[in-house]
Amino acid sequence: MRTKECKEIFEEIKYSIEIFSECMDDFLYVYDVDNDLYYIAEKALERFNIPGNTFQNVVESHKNFVHSDDISLIMDDLQEVADGKKNFHDLVYRWIGKDGSPVWINCKGKLMAVPEKGVRFLIGCINEIGRKQRADNVSGLLGERSFMMQMENYKNTAIEGFLLRIGIDDFKVVNEKLGTAYGDFILHSVADCINHCRKKDQFAYRIVSDEFLLLDTSGGTREEAVELYHKIRQAVDHFMETVSYEAVFTISAGLIMGEDINTDDCDLLLRTSHYALSEAKARGKNQVYVFCQDDYANFMKKRDLLSSLRLSVANDFEGFQLYYQPIVHLKSGKICAGEALLRYNNRGTVISPMEFIPLLEESGLIIPVGKWIVQEAANMCLKCRRYIPNFLVNINLSYVQLLKSPVFDTVKEGLDKCGLDYSGIVVEMTESGYVGSSPTIKGIWSKFKNEGMMIAIDDFGTGYSNLINIGDMMPHVIKIDRSFTLRALNNEYENTLLKHIIDMVHNLEIQIVVEGVETESELEQIREMNPDYVQGYFYSCPVPEEDFLKLTASEI
Ligand code: C2E
Ligand code: CA
Ligand code: CA
Repeated sequence: MRTKECKEIFEEIKYSIEIFSECMDDFLYVYDVDNDLYYIAEKALERFNIPGNTFQNVVESHKNFVHSDDISLIMDDLQEVADGKKNFHDLVYRWIGKDGSPVWINCKGKLMAVPEKGVRFLIGCINEIGRKQRADNVSGLLGERSFMMQMENYKNTAIEGFLLRIGIDDFKVVNEKLGTAYGDFILHSVADCINHCRKKDQFAYRIVSDEFLLLDTSGGTREEAVELYHKIRQAVDHFMETVSYEAVFTISAGLIMGEDINTDDCDLLLRTSHYALSEAKARGKNQVYVFCQDDYANFMKKRDLLSSLRLSVANDFEGFQLYYQPIVHLKSGKICAGEALLRYNNRGTVISPMEFIPLLEESGLIIPVGKWIVQEAANMCLKCRRYIPNFLVNINLSYVQLLKSPVFDTVKEGLDKCGLDYSGIVVEMTESGYVGSSPTIKGIWSKFKNEGMMIAIDDFGTGYSNLINIGDMMPHVIKIDRSFTLRALNNEYENTLLKHIIDMVHNLEIQIVVEGVETESELEQIREMNPDYVQGYFYSCPVPEEDFLKLTASEI
């Protein structure tokens, strides 16, 4: 039975809770233990997945909004309070937030008992311990949450000004070299520099570890923002001088101008500012990058494509396909090999290899995909050998595979698995300057050669490829890039050069493939240069496996 007095006191506490709650972030509550009644500040309804802010059957009800792993913990503790075994409650556990995600809280409460009035109330407070900081004692600046609260004021309105996200370059290295205490000193000092350079109506915040935000809502222009960045950089340089260059570091910044600031979605704004800063760092650090919607759209497109590629790799290489392009013996006009060229179809959209191969390389996905390519291509070679007994399959290897995976073992295992002899494969690699000088690559190169696999230098005549390295590496084949051939067909000097190169290479008993032959007239001119093989649209563009098999079958 709830006494009148008990009811009155409960109501008074409720009233106080609402008043105090206005002035704090925490959630106050009261639990009438004997009458099994609970009240929590009304604002908790916005944050947690609770049935209401007043409820009965308190211990049981907790099951509805406490994380399933923590239910027994909290129920046991509240039961002990109810049974009079303890007069306080102090637990760290998880409630479920309004959006369904777990929210770490520290729930503290003290039992207030006036037995003669029939009153036993547990009164306390729920504090969100996982919540982002409002302020940061290391830098002395406000924190991310304060930034978000500030942005609330601008919801649905356009900002005239800018947001500058500043990051210390390679802060991890500073921390590792000089210790975290010194790292904190640097954070504090950079914050001082920012504070010193900003105007009164520009607001500074420290967000994740070594990054800061500077918000201008008073019409600051792009030039002013860039100037501000340089001013802060100068202040940082001056700071380094005062500590006798004990630490040497630079700062980068991502700048978002008012028209690109989304005031309705602060999370998105933080993400775009993160992107802008990353872009400044990716472009070489120690600089400011001005956010541009087109760059960002491109970045997002790449990110989406990368996640599709990952998914495809995980789903048994769904969407990947190997096309084959014939390599033709010039004198006989017969197909003697085929180059395997990777294709990717992203749920109905064909993506160019120029777009997806760099992504596979950057992400390292080229390693599993490369393994798949070897197996597919080796099987295909066996099929083609039904029609052309000494048929060879060319596969392209990327430097990422060479440097970051046991690529020789991968190729060997791929061939062993399907029973293709090692002389059936030609490994194509672009000569990009350091092949000849890298002992690692030279080592792998020799392994392939020692096992009887053929090596081709791809894209000769572009970039770094040079004859000195060729002599050093002694490949079996050199593939002349279409751009070089075209130059040779249109320019006498380059024509003579290419002819001499072909002669010299032949003297070394290395074979020549001319790539990218498109027309009959090109073919006739190329014929005069006397290469061994040709490849190009004139014969066939790269085609799917079935079509390529038809081409080889017609050779019989
Ligand atoms: P690449 O190795 O130089 O391959 C030859 C490229 O030239 C192919 O482009 C081919 O379609 C194109 N081509 C062939 N004949 C002609 C022609 O007559 N005229 C012109 N203009 N182009 C011709 P694709 O298939 O778009 O591949 C582009 C590049 O992507 C390849 O250049 C290669 O570097 C890379 N790539 C393709 N497949 C793979 C692969 O499986 N692994 C690796 N690591 N890279 C690959
Ligand atoms: Ca190639
Ligand atoms: Ca090529």
